[in-house]
Amino acid sequence: MSSKGVAILGSSGSIGVSTLDVLARHPERFHVTALTANHNVERLYEQCMRFQPRQAVMVDEAAAALLEQRLRAAGSGVKVLAGAESLETVASSPETDYVMAAIVGAAGLLPTLAAARAGKRVMLANKEALVMSGQLFIDAVCEHGAELLPIDSEHNAVFQCLPADGRDGVEKVLLTASGGPFRTWPASDLATVTPEQAVAHPNWSMGQKISVDSATLMNKGLEVIEACWLFGLSAERVEVVVHPQSTIHSMVSYNDGSVLAQLGNPDMRTPIAYALGWPERLVSGVAPLDMFTTARLDFERPDMERFPCLQLAYEAHGCGGYATIALNAANEEAVKAFLGREIGFTDIPLLVAEVMRQAATGTPMNLEDILVQDEESRARSLSWIKNKKMH
Ligand code: NAD
Ligand code: MG
Repeated sequence: MSSKGVAILGSSGSIGVSTLDVLARHPERFHVTALTANHNVERLYEQCMRFQPRQAVMVDEAAAALLEQRLRAAGSGVKVLAGAESLETVASSPETDYVMAAIVGAAGLLPTLAAARAGKRVMLANKEALVMSGQLFIDAVCEHGAELLPIDSEHNAVFQCLPADGRDGVEKVLLTASGGPFRTWPASDLATVTPEQAVAHPNWSMGQKISVDSATLMNKGLEVIEACWLFGLSAERVEVVVHPQSTIHSMVSYNDGSVLAQLGNPDMRTPIAYALGWPERLVSGVAPLDMFTTARLDFERPDMERFPCLQLAYEAHGCGGYATIALNAANEEAVKAFLGREIGFTDIPLLVAEVMRQAATGTPMNLEDILVQDEESRARSLSWIKNKKMH
């Protein structure tokens, strides 16, 4: 079997680092073709020295120059590219077979789409890209013969529990949610939540943005939309189940009364290894699940009143593509402002709801329309934030 070339978009992040950890366990099966980061020179330098990709992309130009300098000084031949367009170049280059899409947010859309259009195996962690582009992305995968494998633990679990071909007998997908760090907090305490409290996830260690999204339940909302696109389901057939232990990563309910679940320790190396090896299974480094320490599995309904972001996501998906683009863009800007202490935790759903309401109706037909809606929604979000700060 020939070694597969793997490009990692967002290698300096949490998913990127876990991906390299799995790849390092299988040097005979995979080689790294490209690594990319926004501006973390130190991390990318270390990764380049260890994995010797052919190319490395640093979006920030000054950071790219610095990386180039350090690699040359160390005698490394890694080719350094700068700028956001270079992400698309490495995502579609011929020596790459598999692309890990692990950039956070809308910034990942164009390179992830480029990977799909180049017919790669796309391992999708960057849920925002699919939420923004929906049908357009799925069409690109089909037209260009790409393989789309979910990395999000819930979707990866569903993928493992679905029939190998078709949707025969599938009634519902049950997406589990930990409920985040404020699951048991009264609504009155949520207004004073700090960024430090919001990023401290009880079960998973992740990047800052997705950690805040998990605390607001927007992450689960984005995942509902992601599940609809990935598995071709209507939103009524995707149900959220709060499961605080994060042992069951999601379930599929069938018409004969069977419910299939995928369980494991909460460690992203399991879904990453599954996507890399599929249809085979690979050693991932994750410890086996000890059922006796797990002991309990609890389930609750999500509380959409305390956590309105989940409700907003269902609504946006029902309204069409423009609303989901607005939802995603407003949420990204809101999370940034919350982390920068410009707005409060409970302002996040208020801002998202307002910007969503201003979105065009219907669904965009092309990439250009998607990008325009994204940009307009961000501008509206920034003026909402500015306005809020003045009052
Ligand atoms: P992170 O913040 O740890 O890493 C983000 C990566 O994206 C970094 O490599 C960064 O350099 C890069 N990046 C950021 N802004 C960029 C830009 N403008 N242009 C190019 N690159 C940019 O995030 P993460 O936790 O690894 O999450 C990555 C994606 O995976 C997100 O979409 C997230 O929702 C999804 N995801 C993450 C987890 C997890 O456990 N961390 C689980 C499921 C899904
Ligand atoms: Mg998830």
